[in-house]
Amino acid sequence: MTVPIRNHDIAELKRLDLAHHLPAQTDYKLQQTLGGSRIITRADGVYIHDGEGHQILDGMAGLWCVNVGYGRQELAQAAYDQMLELPYYNTFFKTASPPPIRLAAKIAEKMGGHLTHVFFNSSGSEANDTVFRLARHYWKLKGQPQRTVFISRWNAYHGSTVAGVSLGGMKYMHEQGDLPIPGVEHVMQPYSFNEGFGEDPAAFCARAVKAIEDRIVAVGPENVAAFIGEPVQGAGGVIIPPDGYWPAVEALCRKYGILLVCDEVICGYGRLGQWFGHQHYGIKPDMIAMAKGLSSGYLPISAVGVADFIVDELKDKGGDFVHGFTYSGHPTCCAVALKNIEIMEREGLVERTRQDTGPYLAKALATLNDLPLVGETRSLGLIGAVEIVREKGTNLRFLDKEGEAGPVVRDICIRNGLMVRAIRDSLVCCPPLIITHAEIDALVAILRKSLIEAEPVLRALKPEAKA
Ligand SMILES: *Cc1c(COP(=O)(O)O)cnc(C)c1O
Repeated sequence: MTVPIRNHDIAELKRLDLAHHLPAQTDYKLQQTLGGSRIITRADGVYIHDGEGHQILDGMAGLWCVNVGYGRQELAQAAYDQMLELPYYNTFFKTASPPPIRLAAKIAEKMGGHLTHVFFNSSGSEANDTVFRLARHYWKLKGQPQRTVFISRWNAYHGSTVAGVSLGGMKYMHEQGDLPIPGVEHVMQPYSFNEGFGEDPAAFCARAVKAIEDRIVAVGPENVAAFIGEPVQGAGGVIIPPDGYWPAVEALCRKYGILLVCDEVICGYGRLGQWFGHQHYGIKPDMIAMAKGLSSGYLPISAVGVADFIVDELKDKGGDFVHGFTYSGHPTCCAVALKNIEIMEREGLVERTRQDTGPYLAKALATLNDLPLVGETRSLGLIGAVEIVREKGTNLRFLDKEGEAGPVVRDICIRNGLMVRAIRDSLVCCPPLIITHAEIDALVAILRKSLIEAEPVLRALKPEAKA
C-alpha cells in the first residue's frame, strides 16, 4: 500500500506546538529553547521520518511498543471494518461486544496456566491501577482486609497515574504530586552494573532477594497484598536481573502467601522471545499487566491477566467489582489487538526474536565492547542497553555524576539517524520485532560511530560553574 506523502508546514507546527501543546514528560523550558518539538510525520517498517526530511531508524519501536513495525495495512483495515460495524460500545452493566470477548480468549490462550481471565483498560498505567484495586478487593473478600501493602523496586516503572507513579520507584516522579500514596514499599533493584559491580552474580542475586524478604518481614507478611515487578525493568534502564532472581522471588511470594504480579507492559508480546516475559523466567504470576505491544501501539489498549483462584473468589462472593473505564473492552482497539496478535503468530515474530534476532542483537551489541566508553552491553530478546563509563573496566561516570554522558551520546545518535533513549548513562534500544539482521547491523554501526564521535566531547566536559 502506498500512502501519499503529505507536506506539512513544519515551521507553523512548531509555532503552534509552543503556543498550545504540552507534550508528555517534557521540560517546557527546553521545549521553548529548542523552538518546539521534533515532529515525526510518517513511518514505515522500522523507520520514522521527521518533518525536516530525515529518515531515522526507530531503535525504540516508538515507545517500546510498535512490535510489528509501522505501515501495517491490515491493522488499519481491522480498525476501519470494526468502526463501520460497531465503533464503540462499553462493557459496563452486563454487556460486551464480540472483539473484547474474542481478544480475552486469545490472551488467555497465550498466558496459559492459571491465568484464565482478562480485564481491559486503555493504558499500562490503568492496568496497574486495576491490579492495585483488584488485589486489595480480593484480600478483603478473602477476609484479610489488612493485606494492603504492595512491595515494588526502586527505579521500577509502572506508569504515570497516581497508582502507577506510587507503585513505580522513580524518586524524581515521586517528588511531583507528593507521592507515593501510603501502602507501597520500595526495595533494592537487581541492577548489578550499578549496585553489585564486580560482585559475584549469585551473591548479588541473593542480596537482592533478601532485601525483599527483609521488607516483607518488617512490614509483617500478613499485611502484604502483592509483590509487583517488571520481568526486565524497561524505563529504569533495561535492567536484566541475574539468573535465579525471579524463581527466588516467586518462592518468597509462595512462602508468605503474597500475590505475585508481573508488569508485562514492555516484556509482553514477544519482547523477550516469549509471549510474556515471565514465561522466559519460568515463573507463574497471579496477575499480569500488559499494554504497548498488545496492539503494537496502533490504538490504546491494555489488559490485566487474572488467575483463576482470584476470579473464583469474585464469583463465589458476588457483588460488583466497582471498577472499569468507558473504554474498557473498546471494540475497535480490541479488533486491532486481535489482528496484531494474528500478524505476530503468522510471521513467527516471537520465535524469531528468541531464536534468531535476539541472539543476533546480543552479539552485535557485544562488538561495541572494544570502545573505551563502553562499560557493558546487555540484552535479552530485542531489548538491550549499552553502559557508558568514563574509565573502561569500572562503572565510574563522567563528572562522577549519573546522567551527564547519556544524553550527549543519544543526541549524536539521533543526528546520525538512530532513535535511541538515554536512561541515565545507559543507551537503550528496543526495536520493532520485525527488524532484520541488516537493520540490526545498521543500528549497531550508528551506535559505534556515535560513541566514537562522543568521546572527545565527553572528555572535554567541565563541571558547570556554580553561580
Ligand atoms: C509504559 C509502561 C507503563 C505505563 O503504560 P502507559 O500506557 O504509558 O500508561 C507501565 N509499566 C511499564 C513496565 C511500562 O513500560
